[in-house]
Amino acid sequence: MEKRKVIIIGSGPAGLTAAIYTARANLKPLVFEGYNAGGQLMITSEVENFPGFPEGINGPDLMKNLREQAEKFGAELETEDVTKVELSAEKKIVWVEDDAYETETLIIATGATANLLGLESEKRLMGKGVSACATCDGFFFTDKVVCVVGGGDSAFEEGLFLTKFAKKVYIIHRRDEFRASKIMVERAKENPKVEFIMNSVIDEILGDERVTGVRLKNTKTSELSEMNLDGVFIAIGHTPATSLFKGQLNLDKKGYITTSNNKKSQTATNIPGVFACGDVQDSHYRQAVTAAGSGCMAALDAEHYLGEK
Ligand code: NAP
Repeated sequence: MEKRKVIIIGSGPAGLTAAIYTARANLKPLVFEGYNAGGQLMITSEVENFPGFPEGINGPDLMKNLREQAEKFGAELETEDVTKVELSAEKKIVWVEDDAYETETLIIATGATANLLGLESEKRLMGKGVSACATCDGFFFTDKVVCVVGGGDSAFEEGLFLTKFAKKVYIIHRRDEFRASKIMVERAKENPKVEFIMNSVIDEILGDERVTGVRLKNTKTSELSEMNLDGVFIAIGHTPATSLFKGQLNLDKKGYITTSNNKKSQTATNIPGVFACGDVQDSHYRQAVTAAGSGCMAALDAEHYLGEK
């Protein structure tokens, strides 16, 4: 069985920052970047708030830079999904199908994925007018009418991005107050293409072959109404990718990995030598820069653990 000092699962800003740090510390990390490498920034347009880029940078470009930087220092990247882990204080084994790797430390940076509404019509019309990624699909809605579901920063980011293509963007939110930051809400208010539909949820997405409209339900009155539109973008939050670790690592109520929060290590899990960083353990900040920061912390924690061992 191949033996490593550090294995990293995940290749978003957290995983790749952990890779840069552990590679520079000469620990020769092996990174399983997954088939959907790069994480959520791969489906993000302009990143305006990552320090060091006053003009902003495209999500995929930022990830390409991080990847290059990790490889430059000797990180090995495998474009494969980990299929199983066996974790204990004594032994940590990572499986990719039938191939097993033993590692002294494991850094988990598997991130989180987009939530969906759970409607049958949403599933049926996915890719036929329904999308969870404005950056990927926005272009197909040039001069069309679309809606974005959600009231957080993601909904506003997606909605504003879509105004570059669509002639009209409705932001549909289930409450009468937005969760998104004030600056995003202000920007949307100033954009003549954006209109808010409050206290409403999508009851059904309409259309046989393609989306033709939605049926809305007022959350206060239960009143139903229909509107015609061409695209439905879902931006209602995320679920952490922790199914590999259930039953082995402590998870919180929402399924995020619980990390210790003491001065010695903020990324340690309940198993010594296993660390978690980025969105898989953070349901609160969820920024590219905080993910990168916690990736750095996990790398330093792993290095320290190996030093003590
Ligand atoms: P979020 O803040 O959790 O917002 C999710 C939104 O979807 C909420 O408004 C929620 O409604 C709504 N929602 C949830 N389930 C729903 C359902 N089943 N039906 C209808 N609506 C539903 O998630 P997010 O917008 O993805 O943002 C996550 C984190 O990333 C936040 O910390 C955010 O600040 C950050 N972020 C930052 C930026 C940026 O700074 N540029 C961009 C994107 C994300 P309720 O409000 O009623 O709960």
